[in-house]
Amino acid sequence: MCAQIQDPAPEGRNTFAGSETPNKHCRYCAELIQADARVCPKCHRHQSRFWHHFGSLTTLISITMVMIALAQLWLASGERAGANRALTQAEKALKDAQETQKEVSKLRSLVKGEVLAFAGVTYLFAETRNEFGTARSQAALKEAEHLLNDLLESVLEDTGERERWVRQLRSKLPPKQ
Ligand SMILES: [Zn+2]
Repeated sequence: MCAQIQDPAPEGRNTFAGSETPNKHCRYCAELIQADARVCPKCHRHQSRFWHHFGSLTTLISITMVMIALAQLWLASGERAGANRALTQAEKALKDAQETQKEVSKLRSLVKGEVLAFAGVTYLFAETRNEFGTARSQAALKEAEHLLNDLLESVLEDTGERERWVRQLRSKLPPKQ
């Protein structure tokens, strides 16, 4: 082994310093390289036919990077679709919540109106309970009628429905003397 290094290497069996591997020429740039070298250290091109088919390692890296980019794009589009679904659901939930809130606030203002109307009517009658027939009593009655009319309109929006309700109420009274 030692003798081989010291002896002048025969043609085609030139060795690098400290290496016992026979040499060959790079199939691309003809540089003298180690016989078992996969890549030429000068031109960096692969020496096997398989790699030659792909051109060079840089081409393969480029292809790999493009594939990774495509995979990421594909994954990202999947995530985007999921995110869009979630967004649509959130928007729907928000819309439902807003509808509900609208209904609740409508109901609340209706209840508030009812309470205030009845409180007002009660107050007006209490204020004038001993003043039957006086101008103040008549004014209170008129005001109470006004409050109840407004209230009735807010509860029964349809005119026909309102008239039916009044008729039904009136039918409970005994006929006029
Ligand atoms: Zn080369």
